[in-house]
Amino acid sequence: MSEQHLVVVVGAGPAGIYGTRKLTEAGHRVVLLNRDIKPGGLAEYGIFVDKEKMKTGLRKQFKRILADPKVFYLGHVKVGQNQAVTLNDLKSMGFGAIVVTAGAQGTKKLGIEGEDTVGVYHAKDVVYHYNSLPPFSEQTFEIGRRVAIIGMGNVMVDIANWLLNLKKIDQVVVVARRGPLEKAYDDNEFEYVEQYLDNVDMKQEIERIAPQLTAVEQNVGEIMQKFVKQGEPAEGRRLTFRYLCSPTKVIANDQGRVAALEAEENVMILQDGKTVAKGTGKSRRIDVDCVIYAIGDQVDASLGLPFSRGAFVTNPEKLPGDPNPAAYQPYDPEAKKALDAIFVAGWSRNASVGLVGVAKQDAERGMRVVNEYLKEKPGLSSGEMEAKIEALMDAFKKKNASIVTKEDIELLESAEQEEARARKTWDFKYTNDQKMLEVIAARKAAR
Ligand SMILES: Cc1cc2nc3c(=O)[nH]c(=O)nc-3n(C[C@H](O)[C@H](O)[C@H](O)COP(=O)(O)OP(=O)(O)OC[C@H]3O[C@@H](n4cnc5c(N)ncnc54)[C@H](O)[C@@H]3O)c2cc1C
Repeated sequence: MSEQHLVVVVGAGPAGIYGTRKLTEAGHRVVLLNRDIKPGGLAEYGIFVDKEKMKTGLRKQFKRILADPKVFYLGHVKVGQNQAVTLNDLKSMGFGAIVVTAGAQGTKKLGIEGEDTVGVYHAKDVVYHYNSLPPFSEQTFEIGRRVAIIGMGNVMVDIANWLLNLKKIDQVVVVARRGPLEKAYDDNEFEYVEQYLDNVDMKQEIERIAPQLTAVEQNVGEIMQKFVKQGEPAEGRRLTFRYLCSPTKVIANDQGRVAALEAEENVMILQDGKTVAKGTGKSRRIDVDCVIYAIGDQVDASLGLPFSRGAFVTNPEKLPGDPNPAAYQPYDPEAKKALDAIFVAGWSRNASVGLVGVAKQDAERGMRVVNEYLKEKPGLSSGEMEAKIEALMDAFKKKNASIVTKEDIELLESAEQEEARARKTWDFKYTNDQKMLEVIAARKAAR
């Protein structure tokens, strides 16, 4: 009896690609389905545009993994309800396992008044836009000159970097519920925008909140030393912070565009050794033209897995081969059982948590669980695997889906590299799917 299985992996970001490698290393074949034409997920369409070394390094690794003949890549295929293929369709086709590594594609809102005003955006959409992911690449963003970014993580830094360094706007105001020490961004990332920090404003802001910092036993002098630097903001573009502020309302002007953000001022209290923000009822107005939420994302409920509070519900039990209590199987809380043959990993399991290395590690741990699971199942002959792949391709054909293979990706990448060389830049990307499909078709026809 064959011990080889055919596994479907949904999503070719870092988790899906590194996970695929673990599956092929165990001898299995993988059908890798990806919403975007190109593989890479947020490594391709999230990591900041000028991180050339990191992006090219990851692309090379991904290319090597996808080159394995045991990997069958199909891009431009969204899996989910009302899509060309659903998870149930895949399940009924009898693959050994289905692994969902589709990232965290759902957006989180704060649920405040005025959230639908023109000029309010989610960080992910903005990040996809400046990283040229269709259709966001061609969407218009009403940015204006002053932008409030809500949230204090590395994504905030990336967006501030884009706004100040590339869009050259006048001011970014970072709005945060708690204080400077509760920042979630890394200092080395902050260096990209530090030159724009308005140190005079930062000093005044820390002075304003000093009593609240002292109340939670934080040392104001040390905070001043760490967060207030020397010098004027570069080129007059300013980066400022409004701490201890929870947004309550987006105020629109008479054209229905963002005019200001209203926020409730907070104090901090200590709860189980942690600082927690608590509203004071006092509000302040922050005049801006645009508001960007950088508060993390949630998974995409339309994939059709059990969903609760922004995440897929996962099995609370520890599974064989699972090195930690973190479970990789979606779990039906009503039936009180894990879904058979389906697994989740990466940002689909833990939305917006960690860098590429974390998604990689999570997928590798998850695939150990999948490989253990597959050991208990009868495998398939290569003829049976081919028949299943053919059935899947037939299903796509019936839906007129324009699927992209890894050979097509190679053609597209070589066209993009030629274009980059002609433009004397390290990177060039086509910004719409139709154009990419046309380029692939033209290259094929020219062979
Ligand atoms: C703005 C930003 C900047 C970042 N910068 C860095 C950095 O500098 N360094 C670093 O190490 N990490 C960085 N990260 C983190 C890193 O990008 C993530 O850790 C990693 O990409 C998560 O991998 P993933 O595979 O779980 O999800 P993703 O990267 O989101 O990949 C998901 C994949 O699934 C596909 N997909 C989605 N839905 C479906 C569907 N329904 N059907 C089929 N396919 C689907 C998508 O097309 C995508 O290819 C950054 C993240 C963000 C948001």
